[in-house]
Amino acid sequence: MLKGYKYRIYPNKDQKIQIARTFGCCRFVYNQTLAYRKETYGKEKKSVSKTDCNHYCNRELKKEYEWLKEVDKFALTNAIYNMDCAYQKFFKEHAGYPKFKSKHDKHKSYTTNFTNGNIAADFEEGKIKLPKLKQVKAKFHRKFEGQIKSATVSQVPSGKYYVSILVETEHEELRHTDKNTGLDLGVKDLCITSDGTRYWNPKTIRKYEKKLAKLQRQLSHKEKRSRNYYKQKKKIAICHEKIRNIRKDYLHKVSHEIISENQVIVSEGLQIKNMVKNHHLAKSIMDVSWYELTRQLGYKAEWNGRQYIKIDAFYASSQICSSCGYQNTDIKDLSVREWICPKCRAKHDRDLNAAKNILAEGLRQTA
Ligand SMILES: [Zn+2]
Repeated sequence: MLKGYKYRIYPNKDQKIQIARTFGCCRFVYNQTLAYRKETYGKEKKSVSKTDCNHYCNRELKKEYEWLKEVDKFALTNAIYNMDCAYQKFFKEHAGYPKFKSKHDKHKSYTTNFTNGNIAADFEEGKIKLPKLKQVKAKFHRKFEGQIKSATVSQVPSGKYYVSILVETEHEELRHTDKNTGLDLGVKDLCITSDGTRYWNPKTIRKYEKKLAKLQRQLSHKEKRSRNYYKQKKKIAICHEKIRNIRKDYLHKVSHEIISENQVIVSEGLQIKNMVKNHHLAKSIMDVSWYELTRQLGYKAEWNGRQYIKIDAFYASSQICSSCGYQNTDIKDLSVREWICPKCRAKHDRDLNAAKNILAEGLRQTA
């Protein structure tokens, strides 16, 4: 199984120059081979394969533009293959014609392939060996085992650098368990499980959201395209990134815990959640978290032989008494947090009751 590991890297001055040069060369060959393909097709009505494009790069472009030889050769080939992907997509899926890459493109990255130990991680020293860069300082928050396939070096708009290592690894499946759980996704909390575990949204996110709002207000007072304007933009990008990282780390912890402890996991599909009218700013932020959490649960369940069920039909999970099945329409009002079943007198917490119903419905659907 192929698994990706992403780490922050801290290139020194020379390494930064080399990385920038590689980004530039990749963009250059991407554009040049795209133009070559377009031209050959226009003139000779001949289609050009990705291997042809690669030959063209090696034989013509590298001769004419010597500086292309200064960067990693795999990075150039992969840039050509990326161009080919965009091209194939255009034919097969009738997507737009591939665009030429601009210098101002925000997405900067290149991919290099493993060969003869050219990529290696030194977890003890906190360094990663990369072609043409030698040892780059890296922050390893977790180790990996297995055969490295490729490495993608990228730079995000705030200026930070990352490397994603693709590793062929043998996955050790989690042990089978007899426990099942239902999840009620919430706005105030991230979710509550049918056995009563509540996962809160990390408080730190609120802090950074407030900061983000402030930074955005300040931006509106800056003169557009001035130096301070761009400075402010960068601060905003860093803040966004911070929120994204905190959220992702937290969601990984939550999804890992839920998957480890349960064999069958049931949640509502997100369409249902979208029907909930909520005008809070928090809503859009929750959408991202819900989407990411359900995505992680999906693939982690698959990795570990678990079953993840999404209930997609409309289902009145909050209104039904999880003890006796009585439907209490008074609960439609979202402000009712706790209620007592008029029929069986069971006392319910709104979200916990919903989570229990979601589990029951999921198990019913699969039975
Ligand atoms: Zn009841």
